[in-house]
Amino acid sequence: MRPFKYSKAADAAAATKMVSDNKAASYLAGGTNILDLMKEDVARPAELIDISRLNLTQIKNAKNGISIGALAKNTDTANHPLVRQNYPLLSQAILAGASGQIRNMATNGGNLMQRTRCSYFYDVAMPCNKREPGSGCGALEGINRMHAIFGWSEKCIAVHPSDMCVALVALDAIVKVQGADGKERSLAFADFHRLPGDTPEKDNNLGHGELITAIELPKNNFAANSYYVKVRDRASYAFALVSVAAALDVCGGKIKQARIALGGVAHKPWRALEAEKFLAGKDATGLNFIEAANAEMKNAKGFEHNKFKIELGRRAIVRALSMAMNNKA
Ligand SMILES: Cc1cc2nc3c(=O)[nH]c(=O)nc-3n(C[C@H](O)[C@H](O)[C@H](O)COP(=O)(O)OP(=O)(O)OC[C@H]3O[C@@H](n4cnc5c(N)ncnc54)[C@H](O)[C@@H]3O)c2cc1C
Ligand code: SF4
Repeated sequence: MRPFKYSKAADAAAATKMVSDNKAASYLAGGTNILDLMKEDVARPAELIDISRLNLTQIKNAKNGISIGALAKNTDTANHPLVRQNYPLLSQAILAGASGQIRNMATNGGNLMQRTRCSYFYDVAMPCNKREPGSGCGALEGINRMHAIFGWSEKCIAVHPSDMCVALVALDAIVKVQGADGKERSLAFADFHRLPGDTPEKDNNLGHGELITAIELPKNNFAANSYYVKVRDRASYAFALVSVAAALDVCGGKIKQARIALGGVAHKPWRALEAEKFLAGKDATGLNFIEAANAEMKNAKGFEHNKFKIELGRRAIVRALSMAMNNKA
């Protein structure tokens, strides 16, 4: 591991200034991702600014929903009564990720910022446009079983690895951010992460030094009919091959509104807008769920080793919607 400077920030303003003033500085929250990347020589920050003790851990009622602190741990978030009662989809998605020990350390802000698990990204001997822009993409013609089937570019076919973020995009979350000038801004969750395009080195639309302070969840009517399905190679410690967050607002058997998002299929948590559009106003039946899944997956395009994700995605959407209706969460 390369030598680096370690500093503690006293508050959010000091933290944003310290990182903004130094292009080679990064935040350190739970450390479960950035320290691994440093050990593998993938990330090389000259300075880590420890934000883990900042007062950004509250989970509380907000004006139009709830607010979740960026430094609240994944475990505390998943188990908080406000989240469990009003946003069970988010609890399920968080608990489907990583392990109990990792969730005890991992923070919400860090979960949003975690980097792809593409094995070529982690192997500094291999070409990777995300790690080293212009070097090529090892996965395009390589082992691409875990890779994207939506929204990829010739420059990068990696997927975003988070489970939590799949639920957050389905629930129309808002990310609250603070800059070095003290100014705050809000980003719609769907606009937080990016597709790779020609700049796969950028995972999201956060500027250098900007600090995620909280995630807000607007009120909704989805708590009674939502479900998270995660399909993976083994039951624990595995990232999603495909995951689905499904939430339905149903009245008298008719779907007023559907929210569906997919994980493990794109460079960002993928909102299944075609499936949502198909279901609006329809009866909540198995046949309509199949049609909705077909509408979404018809636009998927796989690679040599991951074409199986298209059928898997179709089936996972149907299963998540069916489970959401049976309320077996
Ligand atoms: C073995 C293993 C298995 C895992 N399995 C899963 C899984 O199945 N599903 C899943 O979703 N995740 C999984 N994870 C990933 C895990 O959820 C993330 O590592 C964790 O959420 C990162 O949070 P952290 O606080 O530790 O972030 P850190 O490692 O401290 O930071 C990660 C990045 O976020 C930046 N950052 C942190 N906080 C902020 C902030 N407030 N504002 C701006 N930038 C910030 C840091 O600078 C850094 O670049 C797994 C991790 C491991 C090690
Ligand atoms: S898919 Fe993206 S992260 Fe993986 S090797 Fe290609 S450029 Fe790198």
